[in-house]
Amino acid sequence: MKTTDYDLVIVGGGMVGASLACALADSTLRIAVIEGREPPQAWPADDFDLRVSAITRASQRLFRRLGAWEAMCAARLQPYERMVVWDATGDGRIAFDAADVGEPNLGHIVENRVITRALVQRARAHDNIDYRCPASPQRLMLRTGHAQLWLEDGECLRTPLLVGADGAHSWVRRQAGIGIDERPYAQSAVVATVQTEQPHQATAWQRFLPSGPLAFLPLPEGRSSIVWSTAPEEAERLLALDEADFRAELGEAFGHRLGAITHVGPRAAFPLKGRHAKEYVKPHLALVGDAAHTIHPLAGQGVNLGLADVEQLAAEVLAAHAAYRPLGSLKTLRRYARARRGDNLLMLEAMGAFKALFSNDEPLPRRVRNLGLELVDHAEPLKQAFVARAMGL
Ligand SMILES: Cc1cc2nc3c(=O)[nH]c(=O)nc-3n(C[C@H](O)[C@H](O)[C@H](O)COP(=O)(O)OP(=O)(O)OC[C@H]3O[C@@H](n4cnc5c(N)ncnc54)[C@H](O)[C@@H]3O)c2cc1C
Repeated sequence: MKTTDYDLVIVGGGMVGASLACALADSTLRIAVIEGREPPQAWPADDFDLRVSAITRASQRLFRRLGAWEAMCAARLQPYERMVVWDATGDGRIAFDAADVGEPNLGHIVENRVITRALVQRARAHDNIDYRCPASPQRLMLRTGHAQLWLEDGECLRTPLLVGADGAHSWVRRQAGIGIDERPYAQSAVVATVQTEQPHQATAWQRFLPSGPLAFLPLPEGRSSIVWSTAPEEAERLLALDEADFRAELGEAFGHRLGAITHVGPRAAFPLKGRHAKEYVKPHLALVGDAAHTIHPLAGQGVNLGLADVEQLAAEVLAAHAAYRPLGSLKTLRRYARARRGDNLLMLEAMGAFKALFSNDEPLPRRVRNLGLELVDHAEPLKQAFVARAMGL
């Protein structure tokens, strides 16, 4: 059977895997990306992806450096200038405004398929990247000196560094025998694209209900993308409602902040679970993005953390390559793991604590969180620190 040598093989060519390939492309490295599903290339103009991401300024800078940001802008995206968060059980409210920190916006809401298409087009434009799709791995062996990956057509890829960027249920992670710490949030996120009576004002809105947070993220053409986190059985019920009843319940849950919900598109629900890989690296292997960690979407940070992994791992790999050091050595890879693990864990813990505090309907936590929101809203330095963190700066 045929064996092909690569300097790096990435399993998973989604937002994180394709970004990593592009981040390494301006080098002499020979890279393969193994992706199971062809990303969508075209869709009707009035059709919005159910999956969107709040992209921080730091991630925007990375996409620009990779040469993919222009294509995202040309496709469709929505900058957001304000963020308003409030508690359904009291008067606590906090508002962040880009103007307060002298910025034109706080970030952008971008459909996931717009992001993926732009990155995959860039990856395919590089001669040193083989974006193999559809392709699926069958067997992985970590040997002394290299990793071997067999594809379903029998071809073997041999590489000093194999990267798992294959999402929350990572095949690579399981094959490498890396366990995960799990934090069930006991919630599912109902997502849909909606139209509201009043304009969204380029604002990302989030209302904390005792059952979970409900976000309205602004999209072009006056649409909003909702992420409604709630108990799994309640999510099932919401999916089964007819359109008029769903619109009515959604408007009520959102406190009619943008008037009536005038239109809702198809709905879907995603189970939410916090996961953290017990190890990010092994000799000749590294995990990035959701393969290494998943968090609650309430702060819109998931893919942004994955892109920060990409920047770090790319920097370590390029430095090792320039110094003729082995790419897959534990020494190189541990530097990546050390730099990213703490940051990702902090965000996982913070999301867990937020979720617990805001889902608690007892009088004391209710008072604490409402007071907390008001306090932060009036403490400028603290507020600016929050904004800088949310922007990934
Ligand atoms: C409801 C919801 C809302 C969210 N909102 C935000 C937000 O606003 N901002 C934010 O930053 N994050 C958000 N996230 C998180 C974000 O979607 C994820 O962090 C992001 O998708 C992770 O990207 P990834 O490339 O690591 O994994 P994925 O997006 O899962 O991509 C993995 C890729 O690997 C491929 N693959 C998988 N297995 C194989 C295999 N065996 N062989 C070949 N290919 C394979 C898949 O086809 C896919 O292309 C949200 C998540 C949810 C559930």
